[in-house]
Amino acid sequence: MMDSLIDGVGEIMDDVYEVDDDFMDKLQGVMMNQNENPPKVKGGCHCGAVEFEVRLLAGFNTARRCTCSMCVRRGVIPVSAELADLTIMRGEDKLSCYQFGTKTAEHYFCSQCGIYTHHRRRSNPNQYGINPACLEGFDIFDLADVPILDGTKHPRDNPYGKVKWIGDLSHRRRD
Ligand SMILES: [Zn+2]
Repeated sequence: MMDSLIDGVGEIMDDVYEVDDDFMDKLQGVMMNQNENPPKVKGGCHCGAVEFEVRLLAGFNTARRCTCSMCVRRGVIPVSAELADLTIMRGEDKLSCYQFGTKTAEHYFCSQCGIYTHHRRRSNPNQYGINPACLEGFDIFDLADVPILDGTKHPRDNPYGKVKWIGDLSHRRRD
């Protein structure tokens, strides 16, 4: 389970290195406390055409910011889910799929309002990245500390086959 979690950290990760200890401790803590089957959460695009339900792998603890050409433009901080844990309830025909480069990853967005809902990951095609901002009750301050990884060097494209964490993003409410 932990292996699968570690694999799940990041759009571009297969073999993780330089995962900082705090981050892994946090994930491990979540796994210890997590129910076997956390409830599914409802989500949707902006215009309402697309609705889905998803069970996240480890809540928001897999959130990460990526600097690849796609993610840096999209500006989303995805979280991970297993393929079987996402169900499109409505509007599957409204979803468009964008692919580029190796065309391994599948980036889905609503063809009406343009909102990115989820993507099937390149480094782990058994998982989706989910846009947490599409989930009911989302609060941006739930993403207090988000690690940033170097998406310009995909583990499948660099000689190390590994991912590098290069920074952190914080969301802090003003007093
Ligand atoms: Zn929409």
